[in-house]
Amino acid sequence: MINSANRLLKEYFGHDSFRPLQAKAIETILSKQDLLMILPTGGGKSVCYQLPSLMMSGVTIVISPLLALMHDQVSSLRSAEINARMFSSMQDSEEIKQIYKELFRGELKLLYVSPERFLMDSFLELLSKIEINFFVIDEAHCLSEWGHEFREDYRRLNLIRRYFPNIPIASFTATATKNVQQDIISQLSLKNPKILKGKLYRENLKITATHRKGDGKRQLIDFLSNQFGKSGIVYTLSRKQTETLAEYLQQMGYKAKAFHAGLENDIKKSVYEDFINDRIDIVVATIAFGMGIDKSNIRFVVHMSMPKTMENYYQEIGRAGRDGLESQTLLLYSVEDAIMQKRFVDDIEEGVYKETLLAKIDKMSSFVDSIMCRHRELALYFDDDIDACINKCDNCLKGEIKKVDITKEAQMLLSTIWRTKQRYGISYLTDILRGSKKSIVIERGDNNLSVYGIGKDLSKEQWRSISNRLLEVGAITQGEHKEFVITELGAKILKGKESIDISQDRISKQTRTKANVKATSDSPLMTALKAKRKEIASDEMIPPYIVFNDKTLWDMSKKMPITKEEMLKVYGVGEVKFKKYGEAFLEVIRGYLGE
Ligand code: ADP
Repeated sequence: MINSANRLLKEYFGHDSFRPLQAKAIETILSKQDLLMILPTGGGKSVCYQLPSLMMSGVTIVISPLLALMHDQVSSLRSAEINARMFSSMQDSEEIKQIYKELFRGELKLLYVSPERFLMDSFLELLSKIEINFFVIDEAHCLSEWGHEFREDYRRLNLIRRYFPNIPIASFTATATKNVQQDIISQLSLKNPKILKGKLYRENLKITATHRKGDGKRQLIDFLSNQFGKSGIVYTLSRKQTETLAEYLQQMGYKAKAFHAGLENDIKKSVYEDFINDRIDIVVATIAFGMGIDKSNIRFVVHMSMPKTMENYYQEIGRAGRDGLESQTLLLYSVEDAIMQKRFVDDIEEGVYKETLLAKIDKMSSFVDSIMCRHRELALYFDDDIDACINKCDNCLKGEIKKVDITKEAQMLLSTIWRTKQRYGISYLTDILRGSKKSIVIERGDNNLSVYGIGKDLSKEQWRSISNRLLEVGAITQGEHKEFVITELGAKILKGKESIDISQDRISKQTRTKANVKATSDSPLMTALKAKRKEIASDEMIPPYIVFNDKTLWDMSKKMPITKEEMLKVYGVGEVKFKKYGEAFLEVIRGYLGE
């Protein structure tokens, strides 16, 4: 059985071997046992129910919470020549007729439906007349009140067992604490289910959480300077913020757009499509954006403030790096965030639900401030235990970051503050230190100061980091007009009686101010492969990653196959996809090598 599953895995999905737990899940489904599988986002849950469907004679019914999510899955399956369809309220009667026809002829392998649609009498009646392999409940945590995305219509899926007592149910989720797990089992009345729980560790995600300075814009730009041309989501708390921040990013040279629930439907749709089709790189969004996002090449997720719960956080960062490639996450927080989050909860009636929510906010606050490995703390929260990641989160990396002595530089700045009579803030002080020829400097005669130009070796950004560090340790304070004033400690540093250091990453980084400095780090071949993918995707009117995802193109650009045999060794290329697109990409590679 598993041999033929292996063959199908390569042929239809392009993968060489199963990941841990995938084979077990498939065996469970084929043996008609109920299943609850908890695997992190990107862990490969879809294959677990899509592949056994190919080995069974009926149709698999997949209940999934969002249209966009279903749409993506169906496009992806159809591009691999697997007959899948979705039932949605947006279809015309012709399409629905076609689905019925295929269902009754036994031609459909997978049918995706929303819970609302599933629970309609007419649909249940239809189901009673056809051969069903098994039911899939995707995002199963939505049916638990303990979960963070509880949906009333998911709750009613408890009817499945009543209507179809003998058809197995396979339920899947990325996040489930023990409570939620128990709730899924009892709500769906799973019978002696096989529980498969994968490690929650997402090793391709680098997690960083740090204090937000001011509105965090500068930290965001700093972070994005290494992400230019890459896809990402920036989460903000308010609708207004999404718009102002998206505008700001556009001014800084980024292809960014705002997304929130208050936008007109057609605008939401166009932003979503621009993002999916790589026409824009960044979506600045409230949490309204994301649940339906199945885009595999999201390279970063930024939170401009603290999310409400660990569940939300894990799901949101989980949208990065579904293709398994290295991805970054940044969380900026401040003490005010928790206060704000709690204010949102104020109106809820006193009771267990409110208490749980408040406790979850407290947990999130303690997470951001914690010094424990971020991956481990997340795993522990979801009742899983893993070793510290060593180098995939800020807390583990902090141990490795070197400190640099900046006493000399601090003295230069302090001396400049002193000589200009403690009247200025960092911008003007930097002008003096870097020997600016601005007329204001000359008019004031500050070009005659002994400190004029002594700090020209450091960038403006580096001087800002030094002033921030002096503020942090209390060597200077800021007056009403942001002018710096030297404290007792500052005086000691100036006289050489105290020293001061800073972590290397804060001082050595060369911050780019405009994003258009340099485009992506793609190789010329990768650029050509991406161009071919875009061309095919727009001809076929599907998102580029459905043709091949980034990981496949990346592997192609490394292996440079020139024959079919070599191409089939590339990650994600199986017989089916090869037949459709293989030659087109081989041609690009041959052309590249020929040159
Ligand atoms: P999930 O639904 O758990 O978030 P997906 O089913 O979307 O995850 O799979 C995530 C990624 O992992 C996809 O790009 C998929 O092609 C890839 N993948 C799944 N199974 C395998 C496998 N056995 N070998 C290699 N890649 C795999």
